[in-house]
Amino acid sequence: MKLDTRAIRYLTNDDWRVLAAVEQGSKNHEVVPTTLIAHLSGLRGGSGVHKCISSLAKVGLIAKVKNARYDGYRLTYGGLDYLALHTHRLRSTIFSLGNQIGVGKESDIYITASPENRQQVLKLHRLGRISFRTVKANRDYLRNRSSGSWMYLSRLAAQKEFAVMKVLWREGFAVPEPIGWSRHTVVMEFIDSFPLRMVDSVAEPGKLYAELMDIIVKLAQRGLIHGDFNEFNILIREETTPSTTEGGEDKVTVTPILIDFPQTISTNHANAQMYFDRDVNCIKRYFERRFKYVADEDGPFFAEAVKPVEGETRLDVEVEASGFSRKMAKELERWVGAAGNEAEAEDGAEEEEEEEGDEEDEVEDEVEVVNGGEDALPEVEQVDDPELAEEIDGLSL
Ligand code: ADP
Ligand code: MG
Repeated sequence: MKLDTRAIRYLTNDDWRVLAAVEQGSKNHEVVPTTLIAHLSGLRGGSGVHKCISSLAKVGLIAKVKNARYDGYRLTYGGLDYLALHTHRLRSTIFSLGNQIGVGKESDIYITASPENRQQVLKLHRLGRISFRTVKANRDYLRNRSSGSWMYLSRLAAQKEFAVMKVLWREGFAVPEPIGWSRHTVVMEFIDSFPLRMVDSVAEPGKLYAELMDIIVKLAQRGLIHGDFNEFNILIREETTPSTTEGGEDKVTVTPILIDFPQTISTNHANAQMYFDRDVNCIKRYFERRFKYVADEDGPFFAEAVKPVEGETRLDVEVEASGFSRKMAKELERWVGAAGNEAEAEDGAEEEEEEEGDEEDEVEDEVEVVNGGEDALPEVEQVDDPELAEEIDGLSL
């Protein structure tokens, strides 16, 4: 699922309209019939639409699918990528796209630039890409559903991630500044840093340890648990202040910055304590192993951390459901919750990694869905249209 933007400049306005029509049709059709595409695109005259359809299919943005009852098209991940990029461009969130800097567990990370030439990160959520043993049951569950489900879940992940980052950023937590989101993508500030995982030694491990535990506690006081608080999701920014005395040592400040929020949960969640303890223990274990650092005290403890702090509002309440049904929030959680912890998953990853089939080639065999059947996408509000509200009022945690 490489993001190949070569074709983007050749798309005409009509092509974009047809691509958007396939996306819109996908919301309740696994396979979008050609007649519906024509209707939704609002283009007059059949031959124009057909020309667009064939050029979009040629560059792999839509794929032809033979349904049990009719032929039609579905949006590919490439098509979804293009639509998201197009929206970011229209909103002036992204001016240009640079190199890929990371392949996360379930995301691709690219450097982008704003119109002011500020460096940013574009995170494309790719739910369903991994195949770790820990998530096998879920993977099978989702594999049997439509490819549209993956896109839908990826989109929920992006929307939730943006909403969480937005409140955390506003409240002064050390997270990248969230800049925008569209569909399955989030644009955020680029942090010039290394993940903790790549840091071999720190001058004062005790200090960094205490800061990380403090973040976990402060989040819980405000009603949130990160849920995947580990060495991959903590970026370490080093800033050097030159010494003021001759021959003196430069001062290096180390700041941890937290990323990766789709699995964030409320402290009211049924398994909140388990997730809290897991986050704490993950850091404990890592500091022991990597920096040979063991804290003097036990804790922090969940019961202590969730005691409300006077005058501070709960952020989980703020991030709470508005546009999503409870079912949708659960569905996202079913995937991202169980996908669990990157550090744990990594251990079993090698032998469990399965051959990745070529998704586009398999489509014709795999997809045989009757329109409106179980696999039809749930009805959702079209919240990512450039003309519609950009603000997310809240999501269900
Ligand atoms: P995933 O959900 O796939 O784990 P992450 O959000 O953790 O995705 O991002 C994957 C990797 O990309 C991170 O470990 C980090 O190296 C890099 N990365 C992500 N966001 C940023 C950012 N804002 N600035 C710099 N690097 C980032
Ligand atoms: Mg991560």
